[in-house]
Amino acid sequence: MSAQHEYTFFENVERSFDKAAKFTKWDLGILQQIKACNSVYRMRFPIKRDDGTIEVIEAYRVQHSHHKSPCKGGIRFSDEVNQDEVMALASLMTYKCAIVNVPFGGAKGGIKINPRKYSEYELEKITRRYTSELVKKNFIGPGIDVPAPDYGTGEREMAWIVDTYASLKPGEIDAAGCVTGKPVTQGGVRGRKEATGLGVFYGIREVCNMEEQMQRLGLTAGVKDKTVVIQGLGNVGYHTAQFFREAGAKVIALAEYEGAIFNADGLNELEVFQHRQKTGSILNFPGATNLEKNTDALELACDILIPAALENVINKDNADRVKAKIIGEAANGPCTPDADDIFLKKGILCVPDMYLNAGGVTVSYFEWLKNLSHVRYGRLEKRFTENLNTRILGQIEELSGKKVNEEERNIIVHGADEVDLVHSGLEETMSAATREIMNIWMSNPDIPDMRTAAYVSAINKVANSYVELGIFP
Ligand code: NAD
Repeated sequence: MSAQHEYTFFENVERSFDKAAKFTKWDLGILQQIKACNSVYRMRFPIKRDDGTIEVIEAYRVQHSHHKSPCKGGIRFSDEVNQDEVMALASLMTYKCAIVNVPFGGAKGGIKINPRKYSEYELEKITRRYTSELVKKNFIGPGIDVPAPDYGTGEREMAWIVDTYASLKPGEIDAAGCVTGKPVTQGGVRGRKEATGLGVFYGIREVCNMEEQMQRLGLTAGVKDKTVVIQGLGNVGYHTAQFFREAGAKVIALAEYEGAIFNADGLNELEVFQHRQKTGSILNFPGATNLEKNTDALELACDILIPAALENVINKDNADRVKAKIIGEAANGPCTPDADDIFLKKGILCVPDMYLNAGGVTVSYFEWLKNLSHVRYGRLEKRFTENLNTRILGQIEELSGKKVNEEERNIIVHGADEVDLVHSGLEETMSAATREIMNIWMSNPDIPDMRTAAYVSAINKVANSYVELGIFP
């Protein structure tokens, strides 16, 4: 490899994998099978633009691993999309699902367009055509491959996908499970929209509650009063900001592609979002200072830096200037392996994407289960629990001669709604994964960082699954 070689995203994932594989016992052949992308579907299809011209669209779906079925992974709309990127993202999905014990193989989709340059009608045509191309090649289905939202896509696109799929597969009773991240009215689950951001918050909160780790970084335990910088005010960044602010942390800077803003007293993500909707930019937000370049935000002094936009934004060129104590990788692949080496020298704790942003796929799993069971979470037991709790509380009040106030009563009596159950499942998943990875890291002094520990966890789980399947006689 020449000194000038710029590693691709997929090569970077492979480098991180290889670094971790040394800490496992698996044969080279098994490791190679885990690393390889099993199926790559590259497609081209035409659409007619609103002005009557025909445009050829470039799109991909990559299924990285079939050690579990179905495969799972988001669909990205971005003009940066290429085969290498989709392969890298599909691999990360395999490892992510393994770490959080979600029984899916990894996949990813990408359409090479800038959605801002297309009308809603054009986007609908592109999404529907992409879906029918996937159906033609058997690359989508509740038991085959289940897409979800990612960069540049959301509930709207997922609704178009499920509608196209269902119309091409009449009578398929589980059709709603062909895609997740759908609107609740179209078979989505409550809590999916904020899931990735909430998962990022739960993961970082768990780390911040680890006294030993905080001492090492010169920080006090807990999330309260920590200063946070977030890059990207999209689905993931917005909700991450919201949950940190609600927990008493201060979001001191936000960066979008047009620039960044700073306020030492903290920013309110909803107000910034509304300002951006009104003016077309986050800049000139009342009370905040504009930063010259949006990348300046990455170099601010803060406790927690959350890149929540795109990959490779912290690399060998700027990692040295990062002053955050903790980096929470909300985006996929925001820090390169070269940046990891620099963080190690500087004592920065980087909490890796591979599990930190697994909230989306975890709740997608809950959505898929809901679609297969055809019943809303909590529907059967909510009222039963509330009746029971009311009786228990009544007995306690009678025996003790004391009454709880109205607010306490509502909390005690409340039976779990769908969103309560989804958030609870997510909290449990993220906390358990954080502790598991930290234990792997802390129990082997040769493992250099948390990313490597996360890969070790993923490799062991996927390899065990292959061995149990018995396909390596
Ligand atoms: P999104 O499209 O909703 O938001 C991304 C935001 O980043 C946009 O507002 C965009 O304008 C902004 N942005 C782009 N370039 C930027 C730059 N250079 N500086 C600052 N801001 C910039 O996408 P999303 O769903 O929030 O995804 C963001 C990242 O999180 C991606 O890496 C994605 O793969 C990852 N992710 C998303 C999910 C999910 O559930 N949506 C799950 C796991 C991981």
